[in-house]
Amino acid sequence: MKVHNFSAGPSILPDFTVEKTAEAIKNFAGTGLSVMEVSHRSKEFVAVMDEAIALFKELLNIPEGYSVLFVGGGASTQFCMIPYNLMGKKAAYLNTGAWANKAQKEANLFGEVVEVASSKEAVYNYIPKGYEIPADADYFHITTNNTIYGTEIKEDMDINVPLVADMSSDIFSRPVDVSKYALIYGGAQKNLAPAGVTFVIVKDEILGKVDRQIPTMLDYRTHIKGESMFNTPPVVPVFAALQTLKWIKEQGGVAAMQKMNEEKAAVLYNEIDRNPMFKGTVVNEEDRSLMNICFIMADEYKELEKEFFTFATERGMSGIKGHRSVGGFRASTYNALPKASVQALVDCMKEFEALHVK
Ligand code: PLP
Repeated sequence: MKVHNFSAGPSILPDFTVEKTAEAIKNFAGTGLSVMEVSHRSKEFVAVMDEAIALFKELLNIPEGYSVLFVGGGASTQFCMIPYNLMGKKAAYLNTGAWANKAQKEANLFGEVVEVASSKEAVYNYIPKGYEIPADADYFHITTNNTIYGTEIKEDMDINVPLVADMSSDIFSRPVDVSKYALIYGGAQKNLAPAGVTFVIVKDEILGKVDRQIPTMLDYRTHIKGESMFNTPPVVPVFAALQTLKWIKEQGGVAAMQKMNEEKAAVLYNEIDRNPMFKGTVVNEEDRSLMNICFIMADEYKELEKEFFTFATERGMSGIKGHRSVGGFRASTYNALPKASVQALVDCMKEFEALHVK
């Protein structure tokens, strides 16, 4: 049976990434050694790192004056690195989900945090709008895609203070105007690579403005100077990231990714809206994520939730259980998920409907 991987992360990667990484685990760049076994300072691995950074910049059209870093620690370590490096006295946060909330919580350790708006009271089922950002904030932090709740900010904002974004779960899913951001970061384990590497895009000129001492490993300047080799980088995830970047380029770049993602999401959201057994959890259509599509059983079919889960699992749908805080279902439709997998889920929903709706 074909398994369709809808996991939220770690999640599906292109076959190309998996195959090339598997080859390199056996024999890396003709060295006769595994990529797990070679020095990160070998010319073969340095070439991988250089190409990954160059392609990262090329695909996102990153302007001059920005550095791209591959570091460890997950997106969660960035929650403290950001205020450590950027917060003088005050920072503003938009609370759109559990991850946004965690980022905000860390910032409290460094100064005054202004929560400009929150959708917590509604289990984060919308993106707040119409808030004010204090002009004296050192930066404004957003989470562009809220993996757990299936909401997404799809536009690059024009704002009055430096903009910082967690793009863990939507990086490379659409073109981004990087010039509007001071810093973009994320764990790689959705659209890029296996877990273990974290990407950071940082505008060089925003660094070095705070008075506090910063531990060496938590100072972005260390990793800029060390070209992401200050300490041993996670070599296998970086190798895999390069393969995914090559695959994205081959497919036509981030604009092609966006087109595919919009098409896939439309197929599934249309079915959720059409099928009387299901309903979406996100209240406003414009907030609906193209990466994590959350839905629950309609009220009159609530008791069939477990049954649908089993029904879908038996037909090869993997990882569709919603996060425990939302319940229901979540289909993650990252870049590498083929359209055929979305169609298979939709077929499953229709089949289930035929069994239960008279
Ligand atoms: N931010 C978002 C939006 C996420 O989805 C996740 C993980 O799923 C994280 C942050 C945390 O990432 P990490 O596990 O790499 O620390």
